[in-house]
Amino acid sequence: MAANQPLRVTIWNEFVHERNKDAVKTIYPDGIHVALAQSLTRQLGEQVQVRTATLDEPQHGIPDDVLAATDVMLWWGHAAHDRVADERVDAVQQRVLEGMGLIALHSAHASKIFRRLMGTGCMLRWREAGEKERLWITAPGHPITEGLSGEYFELPATEMYGEFFDIPSPEELIFISWFSGGEVFRSGCTFRRGRGKIFYFRPGHETFPIYHDATVQRVIANAVRWAAPSGSPYFGQSRNIEPPLESIQRSHLADPSLHRHG
Ligand code: ZN
Repeated sequence: MAANQPLRVTIWNEFVHERNKDAVKTIYPDGIHVALAQSLTRQLGEQVQVRTATLDEPQHGIPDDVLAATDVMLWWGHAAHDRVADERVDAVQQRVLEGMGLIALHSAHASKIFRRLMGTGCMLRWREAGEKERLWITAPGHPITEGLSGEYFELPATEMYGEFFDIPSPEELIFISWFSGGEVFRSGCTFRRGRGKIFYFRPGHETFPIYHDATVQRVIANAVRWAAPSGSPYFGQSRNIEPPLESIQRSHLADPSLHRHG
């Protein structure tokens, strides 16, 4: 990606609850993907070029050409994980290995793509009781916490997610949540797979206006910038390498005693 080119962001949403539950439709009339797109565009302006994709579109809105033109993907799913075609999961995984960033939001912990990338069950405890959540910053100075003041931020009413969260040990732990019911949870976790950066961010239950919260929006925008591809290209293919001719001549091929087994 050339400098000054906008980051190409694809926001994927299964887009089910917003169409079949009035309570969710009220909070996200155009869908969670559109709310996230508006928030990112408002915050990052010309730094990003945002598109959305949903489950019911052909190839779930993420055919190969869209994936190839995506630097960072956001993923929100809950009710329809099983309806995501394995073939598209393969393709998204490959793009992550090649360097595409992936931000898995809330119930995407159970999505096929997140579980594939983690290699563990990714299950957790949960309770839908509108509890207060306090998200403690455990990585001050990390780009994902840019602009946050104070040691924590709070969401007044959330679905609880509690440990044990069956993920591999995160590379970096950015937030730990405490809930008024007593549970704690690793709410902001980073991973790398291949060349790609992955951020899991817990907030976002569909019946609470979580993605309208300014701090949550800021964290997601920060994460998009953090997850952008960086560094060298991906060299993930196996290949048979011939030894340099010079070293063959100077080493064993020049020594007949080493040919006994050949
Ligand atoms: Zn939820």
